Amino acid sequence: MPSILHLDLDAFYASVEQLDDPALRGKPVIVGGTSGRGVVCAASYEARRFGVRSAMPTVEARRRCPEGVFLPPRFPRYEELSRTVFGVYRRYTPLVEPLSLDEAFLDVTRSRALHGEPEHIARRVKSEVRDGTGLTVSAGVADCKMAAKIASDLGKPDGLVAVPPGTTAAFLAPLPVSRLWGVGKVTEQALRALGVATIGELARFPEQVLVERFGSQGAHMRALAAGIDPRPVIPDEGAHSVGAEDTFERDLPGAEALLPQLLDQSVRVARRLREAGLRGRVVTLKVKFADFEQVTRRSTLPHPTDDAGEIYRAIQADLGRAGIDRPVRLTGVTVSGFGEEEAAPGQLGLFGAAPADDPGEARIRRDALNAALDALADRYGEGSVKPATLLERTPETLRPAIQWPKRGGKGGAG
Ligand SMILES: [Mg+2]
Repeated sequence: MPSILHLDLDAFYASVEQLDDPALRGKPVIVGGTSGRGVVCAASYEARRFGVRSAMPTVEARRRCPEGVFLPPRFPRYEELSRTVFGVYRRYTPLVEPLSLDEAFLDVTRSRALHGEPEHIARRVKSEVRDGTGLTVSAGVADCKMAAKIASDLGKPDGLVAVPPGTTAAFLAPLPVSRLWGVGKVTEQALRALGVATIGELARFPEQVLVERFGSQGAHMRALAAGIDPRPVIPDEGAHSVGAEDTFERDLPGAEALLPQLLDQSVRVARRLREAGLRGRVVTLKVKFADFEQVTRRSTLPHPTDDAGEIYRAIQADLGRAGIDRPVRLTGVTVSGFGEEEAAPGQLGLFGAAPADDPGEARIRRDALNAALDALADRYGEGSVKPATLLERTPETLRPAIQWPKRGGKGGAG
């Protein structure tokens, strides 16, 4: 049985501000964008008492908490502390999967012999983080990622919630379905219309009805509800990722409207990777809807890349699995998973990709093209050159998502 820890620093950006400026301690501190469309990145627990939440428009936060201290984010400082915290995590296992600067999964299954039971490891990590940085981190311990994440959330702030092995389904059963990954407001309402409010009710619900109503997502949700989440912790050595993210001037209506933005972001990410001399295997799409619900989808490539075309094709696949059924306010493209060995040529077939006549030759030509594109961008500015042909292709992976709103007709939920 795997032992997974989910660790999440409490109100991270706001806590760092209070750590660095003692005058802010005990005060409602709100870190975020201050422009017209700015949103709250983090709110201290004092600010949360006024109903301020992360992802809320800053304008709304000011209305709810006029006496709050509003600060712009200081990412270099957050990154510095994040590195210290992740250094603590890596003392206990090399299997650390960062989700953001302040959140990570740890697989400590094989750390038990050296460091003791997972709950004990979580307790030690918490005290080492506090001693090393002055910050508090909440921990969830479970035998799968999803349950560990829910557990850490339930204990916040400064919590430690351990789900004993084999009791995941019972732990989840009384919780509302909205706690499950992938169940946002729209899905929650649709489930409610079917008479499903708790995770336990979802786990007992006939799978066939869920599949008719939600497609493959229905079967997936039901498995999660039953505590079945076999996703492994994917270590991201060095905790590095390279990304590009934009909030749009206006919300974009659907998947197709996102493609030019995603191509642009793929091109920018590829260029930054090449500047840094990095190639990554994991391509992650982040989508934030107009209602601020957020989804991420990731693909793992058979080999590391710094090529915009490869990143963009992976992002299209991610987009097809993102279920774009509402207007979108933000997208982000991230590449991570650096430092992993490239599959040997003989292994390529394992991944379903038939080896090209000479993949090495193709790679060399593409690298030369990318170097030329970089030189042009240096001279004429980022965004001046773009592989426009990529946009003209019909992205087959998108078709299911575009059809998404048309599906159904069964089930009364709207
Ligand atoms: Mg956090």
